[in-house]
Amino acid sequence: MRKDDLILVGGAGGFIGGSLVRYFRDKGFTRIRAVDKKPLAMWYQRTPGVESWCLDLSDEANCKVAVKDAAEVYNLAADMGGMGFIERFRVECLRSVLINTHLIEAAYRAGVERYFYSSSACAYNVKLQEDPNCRALKESDAYPAMAERGYGWEKLVSEMFCQEYTAERGMKTAIARFHNVYGPWGTWDGGREKAPAAICRKVIEAKDTGKKEIVIWGDGHQTRSFMYIADCTLGIDKIMHADNLIATPINLGTSELISINDLVSLVESIGGVKLKRKHDLDAPRGVAGRNSDNTFIKKMLNWEPNTPLRKGLRTTYKWIEQQYRDRKAGKRVVEDVI
Ligand code: NAD
Repeated sequence: MRKDDLILVGGAGGFIGGSLVRYFRDKGFTRIRAVDKKPLAMWYQRTPGVESWCLDLSDEANCKVAVKDAAEVYNLAADMGGMGFIERFRVECLRSVLINTHLIEAAYRAGVERYFYSSSACAYNVKLQEDPNCRALKESDAYPAMAERGYGWEKLVSEMFCQEYTAERGMKTAIARFHNVYGPWGTWDGGREKAPAAICRKVIEAKDTGKKEIVIWGDGHQTRSFMYIADCTLGIDKIMHADNLIATPINLGTSELISINDLVSLVESIGGVKLKRKHDLDAPRGVAGRNSDNTFIKKMLNWEPNTPLRKGLRTTYKWIEQQYRDRKAGKRVVEDVI
């Protein structure tokens, strides 16, 4: 790509989209268009020098406007959140199919060179995730399909759109299946936050209020892997520009499996506190276990996400702690915008 090629990022008012915009700006790209349906004042990050537009990308006409002159399109826009959100709001999750449907068609018609779609590990067959000690998921495990209801099926269908736009129409598409992403500028409160941010917030809250207790969703034996945001943005760039990965879904996550109970212990050690644990067995807990098999990404890119969880969590904890203090001081913070 030339540094003055126009890059469009959809969902740029959110966590990963906003971070991706900053990533490309820092790499020296001079023409970036950031689009999100949230009013600009509610974006998590706004990068100076970037065109920032408020548009609903589930609308066909808006997609046509958004992609004009773009060389590359990154679709990070979706109505989503952690388990608490995707288990309760399946219709909202399914409706994100409209975003990809219209955006990829508009991109194709506008002659966009490459199109990126942010899929998810929730696209995998849930039957393979019933044990905390599950084997890691490899790309072929999405079929036979039995994805997470709502959110996961939307991801699978949108992946297929990308594959067929390549097969039938020759457009270069890229598809990454993200495994839980965490880091600064992510949602940390309000109902859409994911486990790492929620646990950091709960530990910070417990320290601040002196209530030395933490509520954990489920029995805490559920296992996951967590990828730091800087690995995610770098991985998106690598996958998008790998000619051997066109229209090929690929895991983007770490293979460092950890139980939620151990994640709590890790955050407690960062916060320098030990809390009494209360397990809420009625709360959403998601699948029992999920990990990323990174054999394919290592083979294709000679790389895999590699920020150690402790290191990434330390940075995230500090950022959330500052957000927490700012909110207490009456300042506006990221989660206020939800
Ligand atoms: P996010 O909620 O922080 O960001 C998504 C953004 O999309 C939001 O700002 C939202 O306003 C915007 N959006 C929603 N509907 C829109 C529409 N119709 N038009 C324009 N913008 C719209 O989420 P995120 O964590 O940044 O996730 C980005 C992408 O990565 C999503 O596709 C998500 O499904 C995928 N993903 C994320 C994770 C994770 O752990 N964060 C894991 C797997 C997949």
